[in-house]
Amino acid sequence: CGIVGYIGYNDTKDILLNGLEKLEYRGYDSAGIAMLDNDEIDLFKVKGRIAALRQRVDDSAQATIGIGHTRWATHGGPSAENAHPHQSASGRFALVHNGVIENYQELKRAYLDEVDFGSETDTEIIVQLVEKYAEKYQDTAEAFRQTVSVLKGSYALALIDKADNEAIYVAKNKSPLLVGLGDEFNVVASDAMATLKETDQYLELDDQEIVIVKRHSVDVQQLDGTPVTREPFTAEIDA
Ligand code: GLU
Repeated sequence: CGIVGYIGYNDTKDILLNGLEKLEYRGYDSAGIAMLDNDEIDLFKVKGRIAALRQRVDDSAQATIGIGHTRWATHGGPSAENAHPHQSASGRFALVHNGVIENYQELKRAYLDEVDFGSETDTEIIVQLVEKYAEKYQDTAEAFRQTVSVLKGSYALALIDKADNEAIYVAKNKSPLLVGLGDEFNVVASDAMATLKETDQYLELDDQEIVIVKRHSVDVQQLDGTPVTREPFTAEIDA
């Protein structure tokens, strides 16, 4: 299972699909990508191989920001509906997640009683919570921070917001996730191998940091908003 994300000026779909192929070795049962195209989220999901996803992805889809996922099902069987990315009820947010949210049933009962769910995953509560908090705080970074602060379990997360094509929101806890630094683009990946073609400069993330990845900047913060300064490392290219 794995995650890839891209924000820049190039066509994102090939970067995402090629990246997901590089993560195939980790094992998966389904895959999907979401791209932000003219203020709409284009979503493609399949049960099965990346090759099948590649066929499903509309060639005309053009976007410069997107997230991709390979899933190893833990909650809800392998199916296109349960494949990631998952969208919030209004369709505004799309999210990918690796890991397991241990308190998803509690969170669902406490905050999301009236929400119609489209999947059987633990993951979907995360994106529904982001939407709920975004209504409350009118700010996606704050909504993401509030959401991360109530999650228990393991997660690597990447979130996009239809209302803002300038950022990917990222966080991790006990699951691997790196941010790769480029010139006029940045990437997100579970393993640098997925995006080595784009860059060999990567930032390690600490658990429960909030990272706002834009085309020209990467903003790492502690959960309470304190800015974090971190130097990148150079990923080795395996022959
Ligand atoms: N727990 C999530 C699910 O079952 C994510 C699984 C994964 O890490 O791929 O959908």
